[in-house]
Amino acid sequence: MLNIFNRIEKSELGIYPTPIERLKNEEKYLNFEHKIYIKRDDLSGIGPGGNKVRSLEFILGDAVSNESDLIIASGPLQSNLCTLAASSCAKLSLECVLVHNGDKPNFLEGNTLLNHILGVRSHFIGNCGQQERDEYVNNIYDEYIKKGRKPYIIKNGATTGLGALGYINAVDEILVQSNKENLNIKNIFAPGGNGGVASGLIYGNALLGFPFSIYIISVEYDRSVLLENIINTIAEIEDITNLKLDCKISEFSKIIDDYKGLGWGIDTCKSRNVVYDFAKREGIFLENIYNSKVMVGLEDYVKNKKIDSNVCYVHTGGFGSLFMQFNK
Ligand SMILES: *Cc1c(COP(=O)(O)O)cnc(C)c1O
Repeated sequence: MLNIFNRIEKSELGIYPTPIERLKNEEKYLNFEHKIYIKRDDLSGIGPGGNKVRSLEFILGDAVSNESDLIIASGPLQSNLCTLAASSCAKLSLECVLVHNGDKPNFLEGNTLLNHILGVRSHFIGNCGQQERDEYVNNIYDEYIKKGRKPYIIKNGATTGLGALGYINAVDEILVQSNKENLNIKNIFAPGGNGGVASGLIYGNALLGFPFSIYIISVEYDRSVLLENIINTIAEIEDITNLKLDCKISEFSKIIDDYKGLGWGIDTCKSRNVVYDFAKREGIFLENIYNSKVMVGLEDYVKNKKIDSNVCYVHTGGFGSLFMQFNK
């Protein structure tokens, strides 16, 4: 592990390093003369797995070191963060409360079923925006304080400097695995929602001396908005690590917004098709909010010969949410 983490509290939740495998059928399908690898962060070992387990190790590490006994997470009904927070709280023996903007579902499916099995208390506050949800969260926080509890709020879907530390570790893992197994990975493709994964990868790549080019496929915002989020989150990382780096974003990373369609949670024709095609080729499921759009971008870059060396696709999980993405 990188020594900048020595002072930072962490709860062990996942199983790391996650595996890297080769996607031979995908290479063949794309007629690619280089290799395509997949970093299986969907197999991170707790709950349905995924990128947010890395974030939660640091966020819940902070909660535990503050002696919090109750965690409040919030998000839409099928939020991967909420289910991973609930799974992680089970392992750490913390109480977990979820706040969903959405109506109580008539039947349980995907992540809401997993939350139910985990026995967390879920608040359904109807269709509202993030600001209203945050106000609701702050209110229940105050109520728990009055009851003598020590609640802790997971902010901004775990996209914070603290949460992003997890992906500094991930990029280090990829470098170690690539060197040890002679994979010669040169390019990394990963999704950009609020930009937590992206910030950790970009900062980590700088810390390691730029071994990779990082391609972030936006699934939500225009390029300029995502870039600003990334810059702000990197500044938060630097406050925590006490180490400012010139991340040379324009030189070693590309923030790409060509594949997001109409934005978060709205699939495109191509993203929908790739869920089917990729599963048939490789036996690996991609959900259709983040990972499908990144695969569409990767395939397009390869087909258009914009990549001329080995690639690693980061699978960020979200398996639970797949179960309600095709029945609308
Ligand atoms: C949250 C999430 C991401 C990335 O989110 P960022 O806010 O950009 O860090 C990617 N994939 C899945 C499955 C997620 O749940």
